[in-house]
Amino acid sequence: MFEKILIANRGEIALRIQRACREMGIKTVAVHSEADREAKYVKLADESVCIGPAPSIKSYLHVPAIIAAAEVTDAEAIHPGYGFLSENADFAERIEQSGFVFIGPRPETIRLMGDKVSAKDAMKASGVPVVPGSEGAVPDEPDECLRIALDIGYPVIIKAAGGGGGRGMRVVHTEANLLQAIQLTQGEAQAAFGNPVVYMEKFLGNPRHIEIQVLSDEHGNAVHLGERDCSMQRRHQKILEEAPAPGLDAKLRDKIGERCAEACRRIGYRGAGTFEFLYEDGEFFFIEMNTRVQVEHPVTELITGVDIVQETIRIAAGLKLSVKQKDVHFRGHAIECRINAEDPYSFMPSPGRISLYHAPGGPGIRVDSHVYQNYYVPSHYDSMIGKVIAYGASRDQAIARMRIALSEMVVEGIKTNIPLHQELLNDTAVLEGGVSIHYLEKKMGLHKS
Ligand code: ADP
Repeated sequence: MFEKILIANRGEIALRIQRACREMGIKTVAVHSEADREAKYVKLADESVCIGPAPSIKSYLHVPAIIAAAEVTDAEAIHPGYGFLSENADFAERIEQSGFVFIGPRPETIRLMGDKVSAKDAMKASGVPVVPGSEGAVPDEPDECLRIALDIGYPVIIKAAGGGGGRGMRVVHTEANLLQAIQLTQGEAQAAFGNPVVYMEKFLGNPRHIEIQVLSDEHGNAVHLGERDCSMQRRHQKILEEAPAPGLDAKLRDKIGERCAEACRRIGYRGAGTFEFLYEDGEFFFIEMNTRVQVEHPVTELITGVDIVQETIRIAAGLKLSVKQKDVHFRGHAIECRINAEDPYSFMPSPGRISLYHAPGGPGIRVDSHVYQNYYVPSHYDSMIGKVIAYGASRDQAIARMRIALSEMVVEGIKTNIPLHQELLNDTAVLEGGVSIHYLEKKMGLHKS
């Protein structure tokens, strides 16, 4: 096992990874920007290195500074967390070339899955069902594009091969708008991701977002840890997640889960990963794979008892998975609310000083957060300030506990989306379970079609 790991991230996930390391007896190195100097996990780390000024491009995305920090502290491995450089194949490659271990998949796997067109092809070849669409990128000839769209049937969605974070997508309802939409999306994709390639998919009208968590080691073992329902989204970004997915047939879950595990074995996947699907009328359609630990991993940890972050470290150290598929049992229900420093209705970020803070607690409540009273939420990064996760024997119990937790939670000095979560946990359709990805925007009158 490693003696020392450098954590190339910030915020709650930096703290989460640090906790996993400490539990495993591994020393930690925190790297931080000037804006995060006072952070709790920086103080708790065995060593810390300032890697640059507040803007991420000069710190958390600055590869030479991170590698230099690993060199001066003699860290053996680097955990990327999520976001920032976690899905950057060049970063993973540079780390390995510099003699460190990257805690995640091999660079070529990240590259394969980072391009949504090649990811879809690979999944199709592994027998994972995908959204019907163009075979690969959309062609140059306008007539061909029109024909493909007609074959798929309108509405279609144009998506950037290099897209992420809910950006680089455009829905097209009629033939008259198709060619212009393709051009616009190509231009945006080039500007945002440095890759103009776009592809076309059937736009599903009322799907749920259901994803499968997998773990795969270098000894040919792969397991799935069941599914998460992440349909509650604003601007294609998740805010509330739960496991298991309400109403999903257990046999169907096992079948799709096994397909995903099998795909991992086929491509020699290493680490934790998530297969994201749209689910409509009892059918799963693959949209993309995330080759890293996800924000919403705790709900799976709570219903399976598997520590996903510790598994990523074990796998990177060359050990075998600590669980076999037959040992994975799903018990109870878990819900996660992402607590964001933002206006609950306009979603405008609300950085600033937290003047008063009380974290919730009690049976079945887990709080993953790096903030505290008097903490200053910087404006430079993502607005998420933590996650409240509620576990219950049943979904009803998890919801009841979450309601209590949110009512106890006090965050003053900045705006948070706690009131929105409270509203959602009293919404008839949410309580029933199984709402679609468009539900929140429709509810808030923001749905544009
Ligand atoms: P990103 O990498 O930017 O997160 P995804 O491919 O995962 O992009 O899609 C993000 C979200 O966009 C999905 O969760 C869903 O809400 C919506 N979406 C993507 N593809 C489709 C589709 N074919 N039909 C309907 N909605 C889609």
